Amino acid sequence: MNPVILNKRVTSFDFDNSTQQINVTCEPTYGSEGASSYVADYLFLCIPRRAVELIGQTAYDGTLAKQLNNSQVKLYLESVIEQPSYKIGISCDEPWFENCTYPPRLDTPSGAWGPTVTDLPLRQIYYFTPEEQAKGKNYAILASYDDMRYTSFWRQFELNTTQMRTTPLSEDFQPLSKGTPLTEGMKRMVALQLAHVHYGTSETNSGFNQIYNSITEGYYMDWSLNPFGAGYHAWDAHYEICDVMQRIRKPLMVANSGLPGANQVFLSGSAYSNDQAWVEGAFCTAESVLTEYFGFSPLVNTTTYPLICACG
Ligand SMILES: Cc1cc2nc3c(=O)[nH]c(=O)nc-3n(C[C@H](O)[C@H](O)[C@H](O)COP(=O)(O)OP(=O)(O)OC[C@H]3O[C@@H](n4cnc5c(N)ncnc54)[C@H](O)[C@@H]3O)c2cc1C
Repeated sequence: MNPVILNKRVTSFDFDNSTQQINVTCEPTYGSEGASSYVADYLFLCIPRRAVELIGQTAYDGTLAKQLNNSQVKLYLESVIEQPSYKIGISCDEPWFENCTYPPRLDTPSGAWGPTVTDLPLRQIYYFTPEEQAKGKNYAILASYDDMRYTSFWRQFELNTTQMRTTPLSEDFQPLSKGTPLTEGMKRMVALQLAHVHYGTSETNSGFNQIYNSITEGYYMDWSLNPFGAGYHAWDAHYEICDVMQRIRKPLMVANSGLPGANQVFLSGSAYSNDQAWVEGAFCTAESVLTEYFGFSPLVNTTTYPLICACG
């Protein structure tokens, strides 16, 4: 069997009493090709909260996967807040930011240029360093690094003024693509806000023209859309985080239903980790599953570096 199956999503799974294995149903992310199924001794869901909830929604009636909708399981799944994240990158044919009225700091000790932080929806602006610029012929800027706020502000500019939405947002799988080119409206709004930040009120108009005319291309990405539901996750209040982190790794066991196969389904990923918003969190939770339930030896000394919450 092909070890890596691309462009298909787990939509349901069930326990096979005769083989004691998990039958996994997958459907294509795009298109209408039919479902396919795979057999596994164990199912490792290495996905964030929204992706788990989507499986709960698409699971066939009466299957083990339907248990993801159990109230106690949902209580645990909902222990993390989904934090939106939006990014807009542009490329310019001249380095206007080097000689604008209010230039960013371009000589930080870390060698990174910027960021400029603003309360405008741009939020943070990063400028690629000369070494990075040298790799291309353009001046690249991460014009908006927008965490937690203003996702809905930028979303309104994804369509031009008279354009109507034709795809439900729930089926807009933007984060699975390589980014979408800026619309004219978004390009203008980005240039206007950059002009406010870097040229100030009295020179906004001339600054806008300078920046707008220098933009050769731009792309945006809304990381908050399905199947991710968030750029990052954060623990919510009023939860015993250690207990959740420990038990969510076998999500169906949280339901305490005694259903056969519940013991063979695992969940890991940075969403329910000690290092949310870091790849490290995903590795640590995955390693904790392998060491605790499958007898693997840990890669690091876990007495000084606990893989998940050390309590309990
Ligand atoms: C803009 C941005 C910048 C970041 N920068 C950094 C950084 O600099 N350093 C850092 O350490 N971390 C960074 N992070 C965080 C890091 O990307 C995440 O913590 C990490 O990717 C989480 O890994 P994961 O395996 O838990 O889940 P994910 O990376 O979300 O992987 C889940 C995978 O499962 C797939 N999937 C979802 N549903 C299904 C399904 N039903 N069936 C099959 N497959 C499915 C998804 O398509 C995806 O490929 C950043 C995140 C964002 C959004």
